[in-house]
Amino acid sequence: MSDGWISGAIALLSIALASIVAAEAIRDVYHWLGHAWQPLRPWHQVHHKVFRADLTPVSEAVYRRAEWVNDVPEALAMVSLTTLGALSLWYTWGVASAFVGSLYAGGFLVAAIARGWATANLPTFPTGPGP
Ligand SMILES: [Zn+2]
Repeated sequence: MSDGWISGAIALLSIALASIVAAEAIRDVYHWLGHAWQPLRPWHQVHHKVFRADLTPVSEAVYRRAEWVNDVPEALAMVSLTTLGALSLWYTWGVASAFVGSLYAGGFLVAAIARGWATANLPTFPTGPGP
């Protein structure tokens, strides 16, 4: 294989990794907005009230509510903004590997929705100290 093929692959991989870093940066900005921007604050505060100091959940209802009012919208922001970025790269240069960040963010969206619906017996919801 030629060096052109290798550098092309490295470029695509770099764009894919950068799209994941972008998704995490959007998560950080969303979290910051949850403290700095008044309309988001009441929803974001639920997220900080889920666990007690010993890291056990306050209640299943609060845990689920935090998923719906904080984690799901946070993941929606990650999915929509990474997808907008990926679409613009695709239209501009025909590069599709930035959609990796959209898939990565989509995984968090699916997980947050699943936790919002979860029963207390799922492993993602610790019910108390183990044996
Ligand atoms: Zn916070």
